[in-house]
Amino acid sequence: MAVDIPFRRQLDFDYGTADVVGPGIRRVIAENPSPFTLYGTGTYILGSGSVAVVDPGPADEAHIAALLRATEGETISHILVTHTHMDHSPGCRLLQAHCGALTYAYGPHGAGKLEQGVPVEEGGDMEFSPDRLVRHGDIIQGGDWSVECVYTPGHTSNHMCFQLRESKALFTGDHVMGWSTSIISPPDGDMASYLASLALLLERDDAVYWPTHGPAITDPKPFVQAFIEHRQEREAQIFACIDDGVNLIVDMVPLMYKSTPEFMYPAAARSVFAAIEYMVNRGALVSDGQVNLDAGYRRA
Ligand SMILES: [Zn+2]
Repeated sequence: MAVDIPFRRQLDFDYGTADVVGPGIRRVIAENPSPFTLYGTGTYILGSGSVAVVDPGPADEAHIAALLRATEGETISHILVTHTHMDHSPGCRLLQAHCGALTYAYGPHGAGKLEQGVPVEEGGDMEFSPDRLVRHGDIIQGGDWSVECVYTPGHTSNHMCFQLRESKALFTGDHVMGWSTSIISPPDGDMASYLASLALLLERDDAVYWPTHGPAITDPKPFVQAFIEHRQEREAQIFACIDDGVNLIVDMVPLMYKSTPEFMYPAAARSVFAAIEYMVNRGALVSDGQVNLDAGYRRA
């Protein structure tokens, strides 16, 4: 009955080495592997001669040195940032110390939520502030490349995907990954926005996705559809828990995440809360008090 998401993890690479992975696309992977980043942060280099760098990654001098080695004799003209988690944007400061490129992003951490009056949470890269703000549909023109900005809030409220228009390759950041679902952690993470941002991708004609972590997704639409169905399945599980008298998130997680190691339960709890917050907001559930991680929930 479970939605079958065709996950893939296989990737051949060496840390510190730029691989040509597609037309006008190179990738260098930072050595920050973890249960949340798989092998590490994949930084993409777009174009040739005058290039863009997508997500310089963590504040890791060795990774920045690898990016500079990979672009020796070329100019880095733009730095594009999908979002402001610590494995994506802090490398901007190190890279900018070596090149004059400006950073392009939707906004600082929490920008999308701040617009709705929701305060920024700590936990992201709070020092990052883009040199240039970009909005949905904006086109960034480079030397032999151009990029369309595709606003995809949900994983974070400032999440932006970038499409390399010459090959219809979409750089999906952490919005859609091939090896894992995305963590949606309120208040900056938002399930309603995430689902809308998945639906947005279904209407596009991107040929391939290049996520920050893990391999490419060469058959994007069935994948995105499976992620939407996966979230619907999680909602069904939450209803089932409640109908069985399990009203607290802490008790739902072990029932809903049977194959997930226990050390990841806190992250799972935040994703369950994101789903519940969305269900409360549309009137499907009510809380016994505040709407937070520790509350009890029942059907409306
Ligand atoms: Zn992230």
